[in-house]
Amino acid sequence: MIARRFVKTESRDWVTALREAYTDPALLLQDLGLTSADTGYEPAMTVKFDFRVPRAYARRMNPGRPNDPLLRQVLPHRAENTSAQGFNADPVGDLAAMHRPGLLKKYHGRALLLLTGACAVNCRYCFRREFPYQGLVGSPQLSAGLADIASDPSIREVILSGGDPLMLKDAPLSELLQRLESIPHLLRLRIHTRLPLVLPARVTPALLTALARTRLQTVLVMHVNHAQEIDEAVITASRALTEHRVTLLNQSVLLRGVNDDAAVLAALSEQLFVAGILPYYLHMLDRVSGAAHFEVEEKTAVALHQDLMGLLPGFLVPRLVREVAGAPYKMPLR
Ligand SMILES: *Cc1c(COP(=O)(O)O)cnc(C)c1O
Ligand code: SF4
Repeated sequence: MIARRFVKTESRDWVTALREAYTDPALLLQDLGLTSADTGYEPAMTVKFDFRVPRAYARRMNPGRPNDPLLRQVLPHRAENTSAQGFNADPVGDLAAMHRPGLLKKYHGRALLLLTGACAVNCRYCFRREFPYQGLVGSPQLSAGLADIASDPSIREVILSGGDPLMLKDAPLSELLQRLESIPHLLRLRIHTRLPLVLPARVTPALLTALARTRLQTVLVMHVNHAQEIDEAVITASRALTEHRVTLLNQSVLLRGVNDDAAVLAALSEQLFVAGILPYYLHMLDRVSGAAHFEVEEKTAVALHQDLMGLLPGFLVPRLVREVAGAPYKMPLR
């Protein structure tokens, strides 16, 4: 009995926690003391895109608040059923930029690997909600993708994406890092993930060791949309990453009813900095089918960004951008 606590590794903890995530919206609503009628919850919407919310994230929601900004990000809503002009299944042109299965080359010097289709949380506005995933891990395509990067000396930075690349366990992730760092022209590794936010237990000692050990300079880009998402556990996980030589940045999506307010965005930036994370991008919503009810008009967005500049030091103001299919970079709005 006594050894149990010690053999139970951290890694096992996050895997168990993932298994215990909410997969039924009705149960989450019940635990929050809410009903479908309060919130616009529509069960049929999970047919196209699953519901999944780790308990560690759900605990940060306010009970009894139908418009809670965290709940709104994950709850299947009847508005997803409305089709809207200009909204489609591949709004950012990922299919065209697919160099080979699982490898995207859109911008100079950077290659993006789609490691897995899985995420710890399913965000209703996600531009990949309709994307035909071909996760690379465990497939022969991974070696082909790495060979492609190795044969292209213009690539300086590899971006791990998905889905969520930290859904990979520590061992395959460490192995991938070793394969990447053996490519001499690679200087940087970037990881785009929501896991340290929605499930801070994912930041295991083994992950930290692997990140501290690599010769590649590592940047981890989180995806936080609201200050209420950052609790003590997130701050602790973020600080551990920083202490292991990882640079932390954040990208947010501007979302109607979640963070379309200058004071809310300012509070987000301040809270990010408490966790040692610098704001990087504030994205306009990608126009994916089923997410039109989250869209903020461009004129409103520009005005909000202007207000934000009046509230914060320059280093806490994210760049307001829109991803335009075929453009050579994320397009600044102002
Ligand atoms: C967004 C994106 C990047 C990164 O762009 P940055 O402006 O460097 O953050 C790289 N590759 C792809 C395919 C992307 O979609
Ligand atoms: S890819 Fe990111 S935004 Fe999309 S569902 Fe996964 S965690 Fe959410």
